[in-house]
Amino acid sequence: MAPQVTLGLFSMGIGDRFCLEGRAQLRSMKKALELGVEVIPVWNKSNREHTIIGTEPASTRAEADEAVKAEGWKLPYFVDADHINLKTVDRFLSACDFFTLDVADYIGKPVSAEKEKQFIDELSHVLGSLRHPAFESDITLSRNDLELFARKYLFGLLEAVNIYNYLKEKKGEGNFITEVSVDEATQPQTPPELYLFLAGLAHYGVRVQTVAPKFTGEFLKGIDYVGNVNAFSHEFKSDIGVIDIAKEKFGLPAELKLSVHSGSDKFSLYPIIHQHLKTYNAGVHLKTAGTTWLEEVTGLAADAKGLKIAKKIYSQAYERIEELKKPYETVVSINTANLPLPSVVTSWNSDDFVSALKHDQKNPKMNKDFRQLVHISFRVAAEMGEEYITALKAARQTIEAHVTDNLYERHILPLFIGK
Ligand SMILES: [Zn+2]
Repeated sequence: MAPQVTLGLFSMGIGDRFCLEGRAQLRSMKKALELGVEVIPVWNKSNREHTIIGTEPASTRAEADEAVKAEGWKLPYFVDADHINLKTVDRFLSACDFFTLDVADYIGKPVSAEKEKQFIDELSHVLGSLRHPAFESDITLSRNDLELFARKYLFGLLEAVNIYNYLKEKKGEGNFITEVSVDEATQPQTPPELYLFLAGLAHYGVRVQTVAPKFTGEFLKGIDYVGNVNAFSHEFKSDIGVIDIAKEKFGLPAELKLSVHSGSDKFSLYPIIHQHLKTYNAGVHLKTAGTTWLEEVTGLAADAKGLKIAKKIYSQAYERIEELKKPYETVVSINTANLPLPSVVTSWNSDDFVSALKHDQKNPKMNKDFRQLVHISFRVAAEMGEEYITALKAARQTIEAHVTDNLYERHILPLFIGK
């Protein structure tokens, strides 16, 4: 088997809509390194984001390379083709070395009875009882569980295999990180399903390094977790156990770990995740793309000239909310009655705007509906073109301070370092 590029124990997906914050983002990882904690940066940008903004993956690659050079980063770093499938993978091939194979859309699609039977026969040896310190009780899997699993996931599994084989042919085995995701599915993926999912990937030769299940609860864009924190905790540690077993039993890469597509800022989950990682000596990949865009707008709003642009983005987004929500239907939940009218926002000063937007849950002025709307309004900023980019450049210092501090203090410290 070809040697494989590796991601390490801790890694973080940092999206950057307009490709200007790479250095500010990387500085947060340098701060972690000063404390002796390696967090590997992965610049992720989905096909959806590239399409909305009108950028190509090469721009993300250039940003990452430049940031790494300018900041003197010596550890590995990656550029992630986030949420791709066979139809969209091609434009990412040369710029990326991390691929997130998204098979959520294929859940529940049928395969032929013959294929299904073959899969069930071939995988029947993985059934039985599973035991791990992270489980509250043993997990037992029957042939019936495998049949139900095949009906739900086999189509998607085979699709992941197809994309993986395509990548292997184009990039060469071992030259890229492979993630398989179902995080945008409508139903949570249970730990037994995750186990069978990994068994299936291993069976077909996919050397998966990170896996993103759909966790229980809602992961809405830009706001904290909505759901039962205890249920999440239980599920997360069971998933860690399942991964341990799958690595040992199926010979999957030793660094295989969970990937949490956070949708940004799941602060109430961070202490729980940290505790489980520590207890079970597990790694994690955290994707948190939109948080940097929100800090960009926060930084603009904190700047006297930039405030005008921030207000302009909001007032246009307010008028176009239905259109902006469309690509994010399952991952935003905006109560429009709670959105301030643009005519009110016009009179806001920097502090009013920053207080409403900044994710400080102790601040009574923070408005999570306002935050979610701004989260999905980068299309408006993209359409402003040079006007927006010029404003970003003019408020560089303020914005970069917001970007670095946000990633370091609100994400890296609580999740990876436990502070
Ligand atoms: Zn995702």
